Amino acid sequence: MKKNSPYYKETGKEIQVFEQSYHNKIPFLLKGPTGTGKSRFIEYMSYKLGKELITVSCHEETSSTDLIGRYIIKGAETIWLDGPLTRAVKEGAIIYLDEIAEARPDVIVAIHPLTDHRRELFIDKLGVVVKAHPDFMLVASFNPGYQRGFKELKPSTRQRFVAISFTYPDAKLETEIIINETGLEAGIAKKLVKIANKIRNLNELGLTETVSTRLLVDAAKLIHSGLPKRLALEVAVVEPLTDDLEIVEALTDLCHLMI
Ligand code: ADP
Repeated sequence: MKKNSPYYKETGKEIQVFEQSYHNKIPFLLKGPTGTGKSRFIEYMSYKLGKELITVSCHEETSSTDLIGRYIIKGAETIWLDGPLTRAVKEGAIIYLDEIAEARPDVIVAIHPLTDHRRELFIDKLGVVVKAHPDFMLVASFNPGYQRGFKELKPSTRQRFVAISFTYPDAKLETEIIINETGLEAGIAKKLVKIANKIRNLNELGLTETVSTRLLVDAAKLIHSGLPKRLALEVAVVEPLTDDLEIVEALTDLCHLMI
């Protein structure tokens, strides 16, 4: 059975840019804070292009071995197991390296020959070079906004990608997204977006990250399924944002006032 298309609301020209990058075999970088639709966009694009999507959520321990593959012991035998990157390279899938800057530096070294005209992967443990399938595409995401634990991507890496910035959609689009994702009544959805934009503009709070569309969708789901609005905002928007008790109190007051 054919899967349904993931719901994705375009916020700029990202669909066309992605399609052109795909056809020109240029790697793609999605920049932006968490919860702004980057993963959903990539799910949508792989569906639209009819390609398998393989996602790897990178963290501090993610190494090139995790991506490329390793020998495992099975019974009395040692067998080679392709990692997700090798599989995507061979099968012509789209690989999405979510939060690539978090990964260990050897991951960046491993993808370099895949991101230029060579389009090849060196598997050092096997001593082989694999040419990428014509349909293979490398996509990565990167959050430039972290204030603490700040991790950068080197210019020599960044310049191998076409890059698009994701941010919070304008109020009308964001309201539409919330309604579509949750079935929440338009009037309340509008209020949620208003609250989010108010908090987003409170720079003096010094939040590492502010209210994302994801948080709003979560709050909307809770409200839609019957949780009181104020409580939903507290647990889905305010508490996830900060542990500072004064800020929690101030934001809770603000939400109560605005809902
Ligand atoms: P990111 O990968 O940037 O952290 P996600 O793609 O997981 O964020 O988005 C979080 C949630 O926000 C999604 O599950 C979806 O409900 C919603 N969302 C954000 N932007 C969009 C959009 N443009 N179209 C549809 N849904 C969106």
